[in-house]
Amino acid sequence: TTKQPILQVSGLDSHYGPIKALHGIDIQIGEGQLVALVGANGAGKTTLLRAISGVQPSSAGSIRFAGQEIGSMSADKRVRAGICQVPEGRQVFGPMTVEDNLRLGAYTRPKQDFAGDLERMYALFPVLKEKRHLLAGMLSGGQQQMLAMARALMGRPKLLLLDEPSMGLAPLLIREIFRIVEELRSQGITIFLVEQNAHAALAIADVGYVIETGSITLTGPGPELLANEQVQSAYLGM
Ligand code: ATP
Repeated sequence: TTKQPILQVSGLDSHYGPIKALHGIDIQIGEGQLVALVGANGAGKTTLLRAISGVQPSSAGSIRFAGQEIGSMSADKRVRAGICQVPEGRQVFGPMTVEDNLRLGAYTRPKQDFAGDLERMYALFPVLKEKRHLLAGMLSGGQQQMLAMARALMGRPKLLLLDEPSMGLAPLLIREIFRIVEELRSQGITIFLVEQNAHAALAIADVGYVIETGSITLTGPGPELLANEQVQSAYLGM
């Protein structure tokens, strides 16, 4: 018997005014899985993530999380239910220190857990410990990405939504970010990873989905999609 997925998106539509951006999306994420969503610019990746986290309305379909329908829940309630999104472009609070950014990420958590959770984040991202008293705006792009991830993890999410964590980073840092994503998975964190960097994302994903103009067109184990000829010609420049 297979376990119920922690996230089940079924028949999901989403519109921007008259423009339909998502068409009947079906996605399942099992507990502890790393699932990747790849697709071109404008395919609807960010819209789908925002619909799951509740900042983008959906116009049809259902989103079940941990056995509960959440499609009409506010974004804040979804965070409290355990869904946490790391937005595209990092969006850390530049005028606040690194540590205060992490404190903000813990707003749903009991105060007595803060010190321990902070130490765990500093173990995972040593550079953030080094820079904990600096303003977040002073960090490099890669360090800000790490801070955005650590801030989300401070809420101990049951599902972490990552929107293009490798965007705009140098190759060495991209490798570092993907190494951390794998480390998080090995710690049992369920991750939905959205990436234009299809190769790196599919290489580490348990399951991959390909999205094209608002529809899922392919799915399968990450490495299998990586070997798929259609995926190779469309996304991997082969
Ligand atoms: P990117 O990698 O550029 O973020 P994406 O795959 O995440 O691309 P979305 O940002 O989800 O794609 O966009 C999906 C479609 O919805 C695109 O056609 C886009 O032009 C449209 N869209 C996105 N945001 C809006 C908006 N605020 N108003 C109107 N249309 C939008």
